[in-house]
Amino acid sequence: MDLMEYQAKELFARHQVPVTLGRVVEDPADAAAAAEALGGRVVVKAQVKTGGRGKAGGVKLAADPAEATARAEDILGMDIKGHTVRRVLLAPAAQIAEEYYFSFLVDRANRNYLCIASTEGGVEIEEIAHTNPDAIAKVSIDPAIGVDEAKAAEIVAAAGFPAEAADVVQKLWAVFVAEDASLVEVNPLVQLADGSLEALDGKVTLDENAAYRHPDHAAFEDKAAADPLEAAAQEKGLNYVKLDGQVGIIGNGAGLVMSTLDVVAYAGEAHSGVKPANFLDIGGGASAEVMANGLGIILGDAQVKSVFVNVFGGITACDAVSNGIVQALELLGEQANKPLVVRLDGNNVTEGRRILAKANHPLVTVVDTMDGAADRAAELAAQA
Ligand code: GDP
Ligand code: MN
Repeated sequence: MDLMEYQAKELFARHQVPVTLGRVVEDPADAAAAAEALGGRVVVKAQVKTGGRGKAGGVKLAADPAEATARAEDILGMDIKGHTVRRVLLAPAAQIAEEYYFSFLVDRANRNYLCIASTEGGVEIEEIAHTNPDAIAKVSIDPAIGVDEAKAAEIVAAAGFPAEAADVVQKLWAVFVAEDASLVEVNPLVQLADGSLEALDGKVTLDENAAYRHPDHAAFEDKAAADPLEAAAQEKGLNYVKLDGQVGIIGNGAGLVMSTLDVVAYAGEAHSGVKPANFLDIGGGASAEVMANGLGIILGDAQVKSVFVNVFGGITACDAVSNGIVQALELLGEQANKPLVVRLDGNNVTEGRRILAKANHPLVTVVDTMDGAADRAAELAAQA
């Protein structure tokens, strides 16, 4: 889960990273009072889960409360790289002397953590990598040791930060570890006119696999921004990701579903460019209820024109899956209103196909091969 800046700063504050929390408003009418309370001269910042807000006009200084209202009016409702701004953060305008870049992230290739730091902050790190690669320090971190005093001193020296920054570095490491983050990025980490340091921006990605250890993280979820289908699927415990195409996909096993997406995208090229509409892995089990839940979600997607059910029978054999499909269609009744192409293989496939043939449901076509089924599903979606 990615956090917005104001949420990242809340986490930072819990670990004594120097930040100014400011105030979040959703209505420009509230901006003047918020600015007043913050001392009048403020920065108004779009809260969206994407970078480059500054460049896009989503970060503006305001000299007084009236101007804060005007800037909040400008920024609220703005579209930044496909994200609509629903909230702005107001914070006292900082007197910046220096802007640094700082991040901790997971370095999967090296089975390590990595710190990236640069005195050329304020712009995106990709840009620094282009224009001034030598200004970027990369320090790998042994997960068994973490960032102790010595490591923090090493990072600060490598980056060319003032020595006092070592303390902030250790506190940001505390955020990274204690909150189970996979990314903690501060750009800019600033040195203020009085010499003190402050995290002026914050980008945090929390590892959702660790959510059970952090009941407090649930409060960061942005229910309004979540896709309604994804939210419904999550409620039913389904592993579903909404995509942009027309062919609904159900499979068992993440690997099989991923390759199904590829095969359907490829088949779609010959059928007016139709594409997969979603990722949905129903896992093992594949009971009638799980199948009905999965089909229910997919059929609830108005963009879906056909559905491809691709199952490889293992511990849950094909006959059980076929019974699941037949019963799911009964459970769904009239809600089942789009053609289904089913491909079964693996354990008890003959019995599985026999069950579907016997049920002879008008919406169901059984195709024996994955490529053939993908082609048929794409064709049906293109015809609809
Ligand atoms: P981003 O563009 O999405 O990364 O948004 P940032 O929060 O990093 O803001 C972009 C830039 O706006 C920063 O690099 C600063 O130069 C500037 N900025 C942000 N907050 C303040 C502030 O309080 N005072 C001043 N003077 N500039 C700020
Ligand atoms: Mn930034």
